[in-house]
Amino acid sequence: MAVSSEELGNTGTLKYPSRIRLPYTWHAGKAGSRFYQEIKDHCKIWGTKCPRCGWVYVPPRETCPRCFLDIDEWVEVGDAGTLLTYTITRYSVPGIQPHEPPYALGIIKLDGAGSGLVHLLGEIEPEDIRVGMRVQAVFREVREGNYLDIKYFKPLRS
Ligand SMILES: [Zn+2]
Repeated sequence: MAVSSEELGNTGTLKYPSRIRLPYTWHAGKAGSRFYQEIKDHCKIWGTKCPRCGWVYVPPRETCPRCFLDIDEWVEVGDAGTLLTYTITRYSVPGIQPHEPPYALGIIKLDGAGSGLVHLLGEIEPEDIRVGMRVQAVFREVREGNYLDIKYFKPLRS
């Protein structure tokens, strides 16, 4: 049976529109729970420090993937850091994005952290964003204990 060009679409492959709804519960774990609670209650960002290699994980981890050791030391890191890289989202995917495009997502290495934190960039036009720029967390006034309690990271003006 022949397939019409309309059924193939512009990619030459069959496509079938559909919608999937998938309710789920995500557990933050011990480290994630403390991380979100500190942000919610105190606007403080904490990480965990490996007892062997000294790497500070933000978001915190309970085990160092380099040393395979449990981590139980907590360290507060700064709410400011350096932008390691970023991307600009310019297309819309309804229902799953934190904002209407365009918006920027960056990887921020907070002062005192070894790893980078992925988050939104705000109070800056996309064309003005630069790798290496200093940024600072902006916390929501009403926090709920989740990742978006940090509203975004804004440029840190000296
Ligand atoms: Zn380690």
